[in-house]
Amino acid sequence: MPDYAPTIMWFRDDLRLADNPALSAAVAAGPVVCVYIHDPALNLGGAEKWWLHGALEALDADLRAQGGQLCLMAGPEQESLLWLAQMLGARGVEWNRRYAGPARTRDAAIKTALKAGGLMAQSHPGNMLHEPWQVRTKQGGPFRVFTPWWRAVQAMGPPLPPLPVPHGLNAALAAAPVPDAVASQLVKLAALSLRPATPDWAAGLRATWQPGETAALERLDTFLAERLPGYATARDLPARPATSGLSPCLRFGHVSPRQVWHAVDARGAGDRDSASFLSELGWRDFAQSTLFDFPDMATRSLRPEFDAMPWRTDPAGLRAWQRGRTGYPIIDAGMRELWHTGCMHNRVRMIVASFLTKHLLLDWRVGERWFADTLVDADAASNPFNWQWVAGCGLDAAPYFRIFNPVLQGEKFDPEGAYVRRWVPELVRLPGRAIHTPWKADLPAGTRYPTPVVDLAGGRARALAAWKAL
Ligand SMILES: Cc1cc2nc3c(=O)[nH]c(=O)nc-3n(C[C@H](O)[C@H](O)[C@H](O)COP(=O)(O)OP(=O)(O)OC[C@H]3O[C@@H](n4cnc5c(N)ncnc54)[C@H](O)[C@@H]3O)c2cc1C
Repeated sequence: MPDYAPTIMWFRDDLRLADNPALSAAVAAGPVVCVYIHDPALNLGGAEKWWLHGALEALDADLRAQGGQLCLMAGPEQESLLWLAQMLGARGVEWNRRYAGPARTRDAAIKTALKAGGLMAQSHPGNMLHEPWQVRTKQGGPFRVFTPWWRAVQAMGPPLPPLPVPHGLNAALAAAPVPDAVASQLVKLAALSLRPATPDWAAGLRATWQPGETAALERLDTFLAERLPGYATARDLPARPATSGLSPCLRFGHVSPRQVWHAVDARGAGDRDSASFLSELGWRDFAQSTLFDFPDMATRSLRPEFDAMPWRTDPAGLRAWQRGRTGYPIIDAGMRELWHTGCMHNRVRMIVASFLTKHLLLDWRVGERWFADTLVDADAASNPFNWQWVAGCGLDAAPYFRIFNPVLQGEKFDPEGAYVRRWVPELVRLPGRAIHTPWKADLPAGTRYPTPVVDLAGGRARALAAWKAL
Protein backbone atom coordinates (compact mmCIF):
# COMPACT_ATOMS: atom_id res chain seq x y z
CA MET A 1 0.00 0.00 0.00
CA PRO A 2 1.58 3.36 -1.00
CA ASP A 3 2.09 5.90 1.78
CA TYR A 4 -0.24 8.37 0.15
CA ALA A 5 -3.24 6.04 0.24
CA PRO A 6 -5.83 8.10 2.08
CA THR A 7 -7.80 7.16 5.15
CA ILE A 8 -11.53 7.75 5.04
CA MET A 9 -12.92 9.63 8.02
CA TRP A 10 -16.54 8.55 8.23
CA PHE A 11 -18.54 11.21 10.12
CA ARG A 12 -21.82 10.09 11.71
CA ASP A 13 -23.07 11.45 15.06
CA ASP A 14 -19.78 13.26 15.67
CA LEU A 15 -19.99 16.31 13.40
CA ARG A 16 -17.02 18.18 14.85
CA LEU A 17 -13.27 18.59 14.41
CA ALA A 18 -12.19 18.88 18.07
CA ASP A 19 -12.16 15.90 20.42
CA ASN A 20 -12.87 13.58 17.56
CA PRO A 21 -10.76 10.44 18.19
CA ALA A 22 -11.53 8.92 14.77
CA LEU A 23 -10.48 12.09 12.98
CA SER A 24 -7.30 12.31 15.06
CA ALA A 25 -6.45 8.70 14.21
CA ALA A 26 -7.10 9.31 10.50
CA VAL A 27 -4.89 12.41 10.45
CA ALA A 28 -2.11 10.57 12.29
CA ALA A 29 -2.12 7.98 9.49
CA GLY A 30 -1.65 10.48 6.62
CA PRO A 31 -3.95 11.88 3.90
CA VAL A 32 -7.63 12.08 4.84
CA VAL A 33 -10.89 12.17 2.90
CA CYS A 34 -13.99 13.06 4.94
CA VAL A 35 -17.40 11.60 4.17
CA TYR A 36 -20.95 11.64 5.50
CA ILE A 37 -23.38 9.02 4.17
CA HIS A 38 -27.08 9.74 4.29
CA ASP A 39 -28.63 6.29 4.59
CA PRO A 40 -32.46 6.01 4.73
CA ALA A 41 -31.90 3.36 7.43
CA LEU A 42 -30.94 6.22 9.76
CA ASN A 43 -34.68 6.90 9.94
CA LEU A 44 -34.41 10.51 11.11
CA GLY A 45 -37.35 12.59 12.31
CA GLY A 46 -38.39 15.82 10.61
CA ALA A 47 -36.74 18.17 13.14
CA GLU A 48 -33.56 16.10 13.19
CA LYS A 49 -33.37 16.33 9.39
CA TRP A 50 -33.70 20.08 9.60
CA TRP A 51 -30.81 20.15 12.09
CA LEU A 52 -28.71 17.76 10.03
CA HIS A 53 -28.86 20.04 6.99
CA GLY A 54 -27.34 22.91 8.97
CA ALA A 55 -24.88 20.60 10.69
CA LEU A 56 -23.51 19.21 7.42
CA GLU A 57 -23.29 22.70 5.96
CA ALA A 58 -21.32 23.87 9.00
CA LEU A 59 -18.97 20.86 8.99
CA ASP A 60 -18.28 21.30 5.27
CA ALA A 61 -17.46 24.97 5.89
CA ASP A 62 -15.14 24.04 8.78
CA LEU A 63 -13.35 21.46 6.62
CA ARG A 64 -13.06 23.90 3.71
CA ALA A 65 -11.46 26.43 6.06
CA GLN A 66 -8.81 23.72 6.62
CA GLY A 67 -8.40 23.14 2.86
CA GLY A 68 -10.66 20.06 2.60
CA GLN A 69 -14.33 19.31 2.08
CA LEU A 70 -17.09 17.00 3.28
CA CYS A 71 -17.96 14.38 0.65
CA LEU A 72 -21.71 13.72 0.80
CA MET A 73 -23.11 10.40 -0.31
CA ALA A 74 -26.64 8.99 -0.20
CA GLY A 75 -27.57 5.33 -0.02
CA PRO A 76 -26.75 2.23 2.00
CA GLU A 77 -23.72 2.91 4.20
CA GLN A 78 -21.85 -0.31 3.45
CA GLU A 79 -22.08 -0.11 -0.33
CA SER A 80 -21.24 3.59 -0.33
CA LEU A 81 -18.17 3.10 1.87
CA LEU A 82 -16.85 0.14 -0.10
CA TRP A 83 -17.28 2.03 -3.36
CA LEU A 84 -15.55 5.12 -1.99
CA ALA A 85 -12.67 3.11 -0.53
CA GLN A 86 -12.13 1.38 -3.85
CA MET A 87 -12.29 4.61 -5.88
CA LEU A 88 -9.81 6.31 -3.56
CA GLY A 89 -7.52 3.32 -3.15
CA ALA A 90 -8.00 3.99 0.56
CA ARG A 91 -6.03 2.21 3.27
CA GLY A 92 -9.02 2.07 5.59
CA VAL A 93 -11.85 3.79 7.42
CA GLU A 94 -12.00 5.40 10.86
CA TRP A 95 -15.23 6.15 12.76
CA ASN A 96 -16.57 6.87 16.23
CA ARG A 97 -18.94 4.30 17.70
CA ARG A 98 -22.73 4.33 17.77
CA TYR A 99 -24.59 2.38 20.44
CA ALA A 100 -28.11 1.73 19.11
CA GLY A 101 -28.79 -1.92 18.24
CA PRO A 102 -29.45 -1.59 14.48
CA ALA A 103 -26.54 0.82 13.99
CA ARG A 104 -24.20 -1.54 15.86
CA THR A 105 -25.28 -4.44 13.68
CA ARG A 106 -24.61 -2.37 10.54
CA ASP A 107 -21.23 -1.25 11.87
CA ALA A 108 -20.17 -4.82 12.64
CA ALA A 109 -21.13 -5.93 9.12
CA ILE A 110 -19.29 -2.97 7.59
CA LYS A 111 -16.16 -3.73 9.60
CA THR A 112 -16.23 -7.34 8.43
CA ALA A 113 -16.76 -6.30 4.79
CA LEU A 114 -13.95 -3.73 4.89
CA LYS A 115 -11.54 -6.17 6.47
CA ALA A 116 -12.50 -8.85 3.95
CA GLY A 117 -11.50 -6.34 1.28
CA GLY A 118 -8.07 -5.94 2.87
CA LEU A 119 -8.92 -2.55 4.38
CA MET A 120 -8.32 -1.36 7.87
CA ALA A 121 -11.47 -0.51 9.87
CA GLN A 122 -11.19 1.12 13.29
CA SER A 123 -13.87 2.35 15.66
CA HIS A 124 -13.25 4.83 18.47
CA PRO A 125 -14.94 6.09 21.64
CA GLY A 126 -16.22 9.57 20.77
CA ASN A 127 -19.78 9.84 21.97
CA MET A 128 -19.85 9.02 25.67
CA LEU A 129 -17.98 9.82 28.86
CA HIS A 130 -17.08 6.14 29.23
CA GLU A 131 -17.84 3.19 26.99
CA PRO A 132 -20.77 1.06 28.24
CA TRP A 133 -18.61 -1.97 28.91
CA GLN A 134 -16.25 0.05 31.10
CA VAL A 135 -18.89 0.61 33.80
CA ARG A 136 -20.02 -2.75 35.15
CA THR A 137 -21.31 -4.23 38.38
CA LYS A 138 -18.97 -6.42 40.48
CA GLN A 139 -20.54 -9.42 38.73
CA GLY A 140 -19.66 -7.89 35.36
CA GLY A 141 -23.22 -7.13 34.31
CA PRO A 142 -25.02 -3.88 33.45
CA PHE A 143 -26.23 -1.56 36.19
CA ARG A 144 -30.00 -1.23 36.31
CA VAL A 145 -30.20 1.71 38.68
CA PHE A 146 -28.70 5.13 38.08
CA THR A 147 -27.33 5.96 41.56
CA PRO A 148 -24.92 3.01 41.94
CA TRP A 149 -23.98 3.36 38.27
CA TRP A 150 -23.15 7.04 38.81
CA ARG A 151 -21.17 6.17 41.95
CA ALA A 152 -19.17 3.65 39.92
CA VAL A 153 -18.57 6.25 37.21
CA GLN A 154 -17.34 8.78 39.72
CA ALA A 155 -15.03 6.21 41.28
CA MET A 156 -13.40 5.76 37.87
CA GLY A 157 -12.08 9.33 37.98
CA PRO A 158 -12.47 11.92 35.24
CA PRO A 159 -13.19 10.83 31.68
CA LEU A 160 -10.35 11.08 29.16
CA PRO A 161 -9.30 14.67 28.52
CA PRO A 162 -10.63 16.03 25.22
CA LEU A 163 -8.42 16.07 22.14
CA PRO A 164 -7.70 19.27 20.24
CA VAL A 165 -8.47 19.75 16.52
CA PRO A 166 -5.87 17.35 15.10
CA HIS A 167 -2.51 18.93 14.47
CA GLY A 168 -1.75 18.62 10.74
CA LEU A 169 -5.42 18.39 9.71
CA ASN A 170 -4.99 20.86 6.86
CA ALA A 171 -1.94 19.00 5.49
CA ALA A 172 -3.79 15.68 5.71
CA LEU A 173 -6.79 17.10 3.86
CA ALA A 174 -4.63 18.84 1.24
CA ALA A 175 -2.77 15.58 0.60
CA ALA A 176 -5.99 13.83 -0.43
CA PRO A 177 -7.79 15.86 -3.10
CA VAL A 178 -11.07 14.25 -4.14
CA PRO A 179 -10.66 12.78 -7.65
CA ASP A 180 -13.13 13.93 -10.34
CA ALA A 181 -14.49 10.40 -10.72
CA VAL A 182 -15.54 10.53 -7.07
CA ALA A 183 -16.60 14.20 -7.02
CA SER A 184 -18.98 13.60 -9.92
CA GLN A 185 -20.80 10.91 -7.90
CA LEU A 186 -21.26 12.95 -4.74
CA VAL A 187 -24.66 14.36 -3.87
CA LYS A 188 -25.42 18.00 -3.19
CA LEU A 189 -26.76 18.83 0.26
CA ALA A 190 -29.94 20.33 -1.22
CA ALA A 191 -30.64 17.05 -3.04
CA LEU A 192 -31.05 15.28 0.31
CA SER A 193 -34.23 17.37 0.87
CA LEU A 194 -33.58 17.56 4.61
CA ARG A 195 -35.31 20.92 5.01
CA PRO A 196 -39.09 21.17 4.85
CA ALA A 197 -40.36 22.98 1.78
CA THR A 198 -44.14 22.85 1.46
CA PRO A 199 -45.09 23.75 4.03
CA ASP A 200 -41.95 25.28 5.51
CA TRP A 201 -42.66 24.67 9.21
CA ALA A 202 -39.11 25.41 10.38
CA ALA A 203 -39.26 29.18 11.01
CA GLY A 204 -39.30 28.64 14.79
CA LEU A 205 -36.35 26.24 14.58
CA ARG A 206 -34.36 28.75 12.54
CA ALA A 207 -35.12 31.46 15.08
CA THR A 208 -33.99 29.24 17.97
CA TRP A 209 -31.00 27.23 16.82
CA GLN A 210 -27.73 27.43 14.95
CA PRO A 211 -26.35 23.95 14.19
CA GLY A 212 -22.58 23.40 14.01
CA GLU A 213 -19.47 23.09 16.15
CA THR A 214 -18.72 26.82 16.46
CA ALA A 215 -22.24 27.61 17.66
CA ALA A 216 -22.14 24.66 20.07
CA LEU A 217 -18.88 25.82 21.67
CA GLU A 218 -20.31 29.34 22.00
CA ARG A 219 -23.41 27.86 23.64
CA LEU A 220 -21.18 25.97 26.08
CA ASP A 221 -19.24 29.16 26.91
CA THR A 222 -22.45 31.11 27.50
CA PHE A 223 -23.76 28.36 29.74
CA LEU A 224 -20.59 28.32 31.82
CA ALA A 225 -20.56 32.08 32.23
CA GLU A 226 -24.26 32.83 32.68
CA ARG A 227 -26.26 29.76 33.61
CA LEU A 228 -24.09 27.29 35.48
CA PRO A 229 -24.18 29.47 38.61
CA GLY A 230 -27.62 28.67 40.01
CA TYR A 231 -28.24 25.69 37.68
CA ALA A 232 -29.12 23.29 40.52
CA THR A 233 -32.05 25.41 41.70
CA ALA A 234 -33.24 27.00 38.45
CA ARG A 235 -33.00 24.00 36.12
CA ASP A 236 -36.55 22.92 36.95
CA LEU A 237 -38.20 26.25 36.07
CA PRO A 238 -39.25 26.27 32.42
CA ALA A 239 -39.75 30.05 32.28
CA ARG A 240 -36.08 30.63 33.12
CA PRO A 241 -33.25 30.23 30.58
CA ALA A 242 -31.36 28.16 33.16
CA THR A 243 -30.17 25.05 31.30
CA SER A 244 -27.48 24.60 28.69
CA GLY A 245 -29.56 23.89 25.58
CA LEU A 246 -26.71 21.59 24.53
CA SER A 247 -28.82 18.48 23.90
CA PRO A 248 -29.02 18.77 20.08
CA CYS A 249 -25.31 19.67 20.00
CA LEU A 250 -24.54 16.47 21.93
CA ARG A 251 -27.00 14.48 19.81
CA PHE A 252 -25.19 15.47 16.60
CA GLY A 253 -21.78 15.50 18.21
CA HIS A 254 -20.90 19.17 17.63
CA VAL A 255 -19.44 18.95 21.09
CA SER A 256 -18.49 15.79 22.94
CA PRO A 257 -19.70 14.89 26.44
CA ARG A 258 -16.04 14.78 27.52
CA GLN A 259 -15.50 18.37 26.35
CA VAL A 260 -18.60 19.45 28.28
CA TRP A 261 -17.62 17.44 31.36
CA HIS A 262 -14.12 18.91 31.56
CA ALA A 263 -15.28 22.48 30.83
CA VAL A 264 -17.87 22.31 33.63
CA ASP A 265 -15.59 20.51 36.05
CA ALA A 266 -12.84 23.07 35.52
CA ARG A 267 -15.26 25.94 36.11
CA GLY A 268 -17.30 24.52 38.94
CA ALA A 269 -14.62 22.68 40.94
CA GLY A 270 -17.14 20.33 42.54
CA ASP A 271 -19.74 22.89 43.64
CA ARG A 272 -23.43 22.03 43.86
CA ASP A 273 -24.33 23.49 40.46
CA SER A 274 -21.63 21.68 38.54
CA ALA A 275 -22.32 18.44 40.44
CA SER A 276 -26.00 18.72 39.50
CA PHE A 277 -25.17 19.44 35.85
CA LEU A 278 -22.62 16.62 35.58
CA SER A 279 -25.13 14.13 36.94
CA GLU A 280 -27.56 15.21 34.17
CA LEU A 281 -24.79 14.56 31.69
CA GLY A 282 -24.43 11.24 33.49
CA TRP A 283 -28.09 10.42 32.72
CA ARG A 284 -27.23 10.77 29.05
CA ASP A 285 -24.45 8.17 29.38
CA PHE A 286 -26.71 5.94 31.46
CA ALA A 287 -29.39 6.05 28.75
CA GLN A 288 -26.79 5.18 26.08
CA SER A 289 -25.46 2.32 28.22
CA THR A 290 -28.97 0.99 28.82
CA LEU A 291 -29.62 1.02 25.08
CA PHE A 292 -26.33 -0.81 24.56
CA ASP A 293 -27.40 -3.56 26.96
CA PHE A 294 -31.09 -3.59 25.97
CA PRO A 295 -31.05 -2.94 22.22
CA ASP A 296 -34.85 -3.13 21.83
CA MET A 297 -35.41 -0.41 24.45
CA ALA A 298 -37.10 1.84 21.85
CA THR A 299 -39.80 -0.71 21.10
CA ARG A 300 -40.18 -2.94 24.20
CA SER A 301 -41.01 -2.05 27.76
CA LEU A 302 -38.00 -2.95 29.90
CA ARG A 303 -40.41 -4.29 32.53
CA PRO A 304 -42.14 -7.10 30.66
CA GLU A 305 -45.29 -6.94 32.81
CA PHE A 306 -46.13 -3.73 30.93
CA ASP A 307 -46.68 -5.84 27.78
CA ALA A 308 -50.11 -6.55 29.26
CA MET A 309 -50.97 -2.90 29.90
CA PRO A 310 -54.37 -2.09 28.36
CA TRP A 311 -53.20 1.03 26.53
CA ARG A 312 -56.10 2.93 24.98
CA THR A 313 -56.59 4.11 21.44
CA ASP A 314 -57.82 7.69 21.41
CA PRO A 315 -57.11 9.57 18.17
CA ALA A 316 -58.86 12.75 19.37
CA GLY A 317 -56.99 12.78 22.69
CA LEU A 318 -53.68 12.10 20.96
CA ARG A 319 -54.28 14.86 18.45
CA ALA A 320 -55.17 17.31 21.23
CA TRP A 321 -51.93 16.40 23.01
CA GLN A 322 -49.83 16.72 19.86
CA ARG A 323 -51.34 20.09 18.93
CA GLY A 324 -51.21 21.56 22.44
CA ARG A 325 -55.00 21.69 22.79
CA THR A 326 -55.66 19.48 25.81
CA GLY A 327 -57.16 22.28 27.92
CA TYR A 328 -54.33 21.92 30.48
CA PRO A 329 -52.14 25.02 30.08
CA ILE A 330 -48.76 23.56 31.12
CA ILE A 331 -49.25 20.59 28.77
CA ASP A 332 -50.35 22.82 25.92
CA ALA A 333 -47.47 25.23 26.49
CA GLY A 334 -44.95 22.38 26.36
CA MET A 335 -46.38 20.79 23.24
CA ARG A 336 -46.51 24.15 21.47
CA GLU A 337 -42.95 24.95 22.53
CA LEU A 338 -41.94 21.62 21.02
CA TRP A 339 -43.77 22.29 17.77
CA HIS A 340 -42.33 25.78 17.45
CA THR A 341 -38.73 25.28 18.59
CA GLY A 342 -38.07 21.55 18.20
CA CYS A 343 -37.35 21.37 21.92
CA MET A 344 -39.08 21.32 25.29
CA HIS A 345 -37.91 21.96 28.82
CA ASN A 346 -37.06 18.75 30.73
CA ARG A 347 -39.58 19.30 33.54
CA VAL A 348 -42.35 19.87 30.99
CA ARG A 349 -41.28 16.78 29.00
CA MET A 350 -41.90 14.78 32.16
CA ILE A 351 -45.31 16.39 32.73
CA VAL A 352 -46.56 15.88 29.15
CA ALA A 353 -45.24 12.30 29.05
CA SER A 354 -46.96 11.47 32.33
CA PHE A 355 -50.20 13.01 31.05
CA LEU A 356 -50.10 10.94 27.85
CA THR A 357 -49.23 7.61 29.44
CA LYS A 358 -51.35 7.99 32.56
CA HIS A 359 -54.25 10.45 32.29
CA LEU A 360 -54.84 9.52 28.64
CA LEU A 361 -53.51 5.95 29.11
CA LEU A 362 -51.84 5.96 25.69
CA ASP A 363 -48.86 3.73 24.91
CA TRP A 364 -45.51 5.40 25.70
CA ARG A 365 -44.29 4.38 22.23
CA VAL A 366 -46.86 6.71 20.65
CA GLY A 367 -45.41 9.64 22.56
CA GLU A 368 -41.85 8.51 21.92
CA ARG A 369 -42.50 8.49 18.17
CA TRP A 370 -44.01 11.98 18.25
CA PHE A 371 -40.97 13.27 20.13
CA ALA A 372 -38.66 11.43 17.71
CA ASP A 373 -40.22 13.31 14.83
CA THR A 374 -40.44 16.75 16.42
CA LEU A 375 -37.36 17.09 18.71
CA VAL A 376 -34.12 18.47 17.30
CA ASP A 377 -32.34 16.52 20.05
CA ALA A 378 -34.26 13.27 19.35
CA ASP A 379 -31.88 10.61 20.54
CA ALA A 380 -32.10 6.86 20.00
CA ALA A 381 -31.21 6.29 23.67
CA SER A 382 -32.37 9.30 25.70
CA ASN A 383 -35.81 9.48 24.13
CA PRO A 384 -37.08 5.93 24.75
CA PHE A 385 -35.15 5.74 28.02
CA ASN A 386 -36.94 8.80 29.42
CA TRP A 387 -40.33 7.78 28.05
CA GLN A 388 -39.96 4.45 29.80
CA TRP A 389 -38.78 6.19 32.92
CA VAL A 390 -41.87 8.41 33.07
CA ALA A 391 -44.25 5.63 32.01
CA GLY A 392 -42.96 3.44 34.84
CA CYS A 393 -41.85 0.58 32.59
CA GLY A 394 -38.12 1.44 32.55
CA LEU A 395 -35.52 -0.34 34.68
CA ASP A 396 -34.89 2.49 37.12
CA ALA A 397 -38.21 4.18 36.43
CA ALA A 398 -40.44 6.44 38.45
CA PRO A 399 -43.15 4.15 39.83
CA TYR A 400 -46.27 4.06 37.66
CA PHE A 401 -48.42 5.31 40.53
CA ARG A 402 -46.49 8.57 40.57
CA ILE A 403 -48.84 10.52 38.36
CA PHE A 404 -48.02 14.17 37.80
CA ASN A 405 -51.00 16.46 38.27
CA PRO A 406 -50.51 19.06 35.52
CA VAL A 407 -52.22 21.79 37.52
CA LEU A 408 -50.07 21.29 40.62
CA GLN A 409 -46.93 20.90 38.52
CA GLY A 410 -47.77 24.13 36.71
CA GLU A 411 -48.38 25.97 39.96
CA LYS A 412 -45.14 24.65 41.45
CA PHE A 413 -42.72 25.06 38.56
CA ASP A 414 -44.34 27.97 36.71
CA PRO A 415 -45.78 29.86 39.70
CA GLU A 416 -46.20 33.17 37.91
CA GLY A 417 -47.48 31.47 34.75
CA ALA A 418 -44.77 33.14 32.65
CA TYR A 419 -44.00 29.97 30.70
CA VAL A 420 -47.65 29.28 29.92
CA ARG A 421 -48.25 32.90 29.00
CA ARG A 422 -45.42 32.71 26.47
CA TRP A 423 -46.77 29.68 24.62
CA VAL A 424 -50.51 29.90 25.21
CA PRO A 425 -51.29 33.52 24.34
CA GLU A 426 -55.08 32.91 24.57
CA LEU A 427 -54.64 32.88 28.35
CA VAL A 428 -52.31 35.84 28.65
CA ARG A 429 -54.83 37.94 30.59
CA LEU A 430 -55.26 35.42 33.41
CA PRO A 431 -53.28 36.62 36.42
CA GLY A 432 -50.55 34.66 38.26
CA ARG A 433 -51.18 31.04 38.98
CA ALA A 434 -54.86 31.30 37.97
CA ILE A 435 -53.54 30.65 34.48
CA HIS A 436 -53.20 26.95 35.37
CA THR A 437 -56.97 26.50 35.93
CA PRO A 438 -58.59 28.46 33.11
CA TRP A 439 -61.86 26.53 33.48
CA LYS A 440 -62.35 28.27 36.83
CA ALA A 441 -61.82 31.74 35.36
CA ASP A 442 -64.08 34.08 33.46
CA LEU A 443 -62.26 34.07 30.15
CA PRO A 444 -62.75 37.19 28.04
CA ALA A 445 -65.51 36.74 25.44
CA GLY A 446 -64.19 35.21 22.24
CA THR A 447 -61.30 33.32 23.93
CA ARG A 448 -60.91 30.02 22.11
CA TYR A 449 -59.23 27.75 24.61
CA PRO A 450 -60.35 24.10 24.81
CA THR A 451 -62.09 22.55 27.77
CA PRO A 452 -60.00 19.73 29.34
CA VAL A 453 -59.89 16.55 27.24
CA VAL A 454 -59.92 14.35 30.33
CA ASP A 455 -60.99 14.78 33.93
CA LEU A 456 -57.84 14.61 36.05
CA ALA A 457 -59.30 12.54 38.88
CA GLY A 458 -61.06 10.17 36.47
CA GLY A 459 -57.97 9.74 34.26
CA ARG A 460 -55.82 9.07 37.29
CA ALA A 461 -58.22 6.48 38.71
CA ARG A 462 -58.45 4.73 35.31
CA ALA A 463 -54.65 4.59 35.02
CA LEU A 464 -54.18 3.21 38.53
CA ALA A 465 -56.86 0.57 37.96
CA ALA A 466 -55.16 -0.55 34.72
CA TRP A 467 -51.79 -0.72 36.42
CA LYS A 468 -53.08 -2.60 39.47
CA ALA A 469 -54.66 -5.20 37.20
CA LEU A 470 -51.29 -6.00 35.58
C1 LIG B 1 -40.09 12.06 27.84
C2 LIG B 1 -38.68 12.60 27.68
C3 LIG B 1 -38.02 12.47 26.46
C4 LIG B 1 -36.71 12.94 26.31
N1 LIG B 1 -36.08 12.82 25.10
C5 LIG B 1 -34.80 13.24 24.96
C6 LIG B 1 -34.13 13.11 23.71
O1 LIG B 1 -34.65 12.58 22.73
N2 LIG B 1 -32.85 13.58 23.62
C7 LIG B 1 -32.21 14.16 24.70
O2 LIG B 1 -31.06 14.58 24.56
N3 LIG B 1 -32.83 14.26 25.89
C8 LIG B 1 -34.09 13.84 26.06
N4 LIG B 1 -34.72 13.98 27.27
C9 LIG B 1 -33.92 14.45 28.44
C10 LIG B 1 -33.94 15.95 28.72
O3 LIG B 1 -35.26 16.43 28.72
C11 LIG B 1 -33.12 16.77 27.73
O4 LIG B 1 -31.84 16.20 27.57
C12 LIG B 1 -32.95 18.21 28.22
O5 LIG B 1 -34.21 18.81 28.38
C13 LIG B 1 -32.12 18.98 27.23
O6 LIG B 1 -32.01 20.33 27.64
P1 LIG B 1 -30.59 20.92 28.04
O7 LIG B 1 -29.58 20.54 27.02
O8 LIG B 1 -30.80 22.38 28.29
O9 LIG B 1 -30.32 20.14 29.39
P2 LIG B 1 -29.30 20.46 30.59
O10 LIG B 1 -30.11 20.55 31.83
O11 LIG B 1 -28.42 21.58 30.26
O12 LIG B 1 -28.48 19.09 30.71
C14 LIG B 1 -27.22 18.89 30.06
C15 LIG B 1 -27.25 17.66 29.20
O13 LIG B 1 -27.47 16.50 29.99
C16 LIG B 1 -28.22 15.56 29.25
N5 LIG B 1 -29.46 15.25 29.95
C17 LIG B 1 -30.14 16.05 30.81
N6 LIG B 1 -31.21 15.40 31.31
C18 LIG B 1 -31.21 14.18 30.74
C19 LIG B 1 -32.06 13.04 30.85
N7 LIG B 1 -33.15 13.02 31.65
N8 LIG B 1 -31.77 11.95 30.12
C20 LIG B 1 -30.68 11.91 29.31
N9 LIG B 1 -29.85 12.96 29.18
C21 LIG B 1 -30.11 14.07 29.88
C22 LIG B 1 -28.52 16.18 27.89
O14 LIG B 1 -27.56 15.73 26.96
C23 LIG B 1 -28.37 17.66 28.19
O15 LIG B 1 -28.02 18.40 27.04
C24 LIG B 1 -36.04 13.53 27.43
C25 LIG B 1 -36.72 13.66 28.65
C26 LIG B 1 -38.03 13.21 28.78
C27 LIG B 1 -38.72 13.35 30.11
